[in-house]
Amino acid sequence: MKAIGIDIGGSEIKAGIITNKGKILKKIKIETNSIHGKKSLIKNLERIIKKLDSKEIKGIGIGFAGGVDSKKGQIIQSPNIPSMNNVFLVKELKKKFRKKIILENDAALMALAEALIGAGKKYSIVVGLTAGTGIGSGLIINKKIYSGKDNLTEIGHTIINFNGPKCSCGNNGCLEQYVGIKPLMKLTERKIELHNSILKKMWPLTPKKVDLAAKKKDKTAVSILKETGIYLGIGLTNILNSFNPDVIILGGGLSNSDLMIKTAVKEMKLRAFKRTRNTKILKAKFRNNAGIIGAGLIVFKSN
Ligand SMILES: [Zn+2]
Repeated sequence: MKAIGIDIGGSEIKAGIITNKGKILKKIKIETNSIHGKKSLIKNLERIIKKLDSKEIKGIGIGFAGGVDSKKGQIIQSPNIPSMNNVFLVKELKKKFRKKIILENDAALMALAEALIGAGKKYSIVVGLTAGTGIGSGLIINKKIYSGKDNLTEIGHTIINFNGPKCSCGNNGCLEQYVGIKPLMKLTERKIELHNSILKKMWPLTPKKVDLAAKKKDKTAVSILKETGIYLGIGLTNILNSFNPDVIILGGGLSNSDLMIKTAVKEMKLRAFKRTRNTKILKAKFRNNAGIIGAGLIVFKSN
């Protein structure tokens, strides 16, 4: 059995033919080019699907970076691809393809892929957390996505500091204002003058370079990753206290720095209830392909 899995991100669209075991048989990638508007983006999707479609394809799963209503097949809101706000994507694509089409949040599909065949496959309650531009999250209970009443379970927007920086959601001090690529780079800009850091010679700076400098024992880089790790640890504690999961799986930029993860786990152990303190925090098994794998697998999971 095969399905098409599509992952629509702010910069690129990835798609592939996925088996019911989660194996990728064929993969293609194009730029999202969202500046050309929704019509052009839908045309591009149709083109991709045509390339991958065949009689053997059971259905099409689509992950989208932003808020979606999976029951209505509608994109609600996307900070990175605003031209797709309110588009009934499933209805649009069904005009051309008479197949089962499922639309889901991209992070939920990443978490699903991990829960079904990845790092979380042995567990019943799995939380996935990924960092890129923002923080995406997915909660998988007994191998099914839990989306909540309004398809809005956003761990990245749980509040870490009520007086903190303004967030895109309108609130202040959300987790994604402290953990992720942007906050890490902001913190780096603030701290770079300390201790005569080697980061000054590593321009242009990236999270990877901060991690590299920390591995060379650069004090500034170490303090940046430790501070971020403390915030992540508070976020993990909030997840434990809300859902008491079997495992939390970290993907994207969150899983790259061992020092940050180690600090986060230490902080979590300090703050969480004694009984949940030893909850497993694992790195994601699938990296760039988690989105299309999850998108393909959900076709087989749904009726
Ligand atoms: Zn927020």
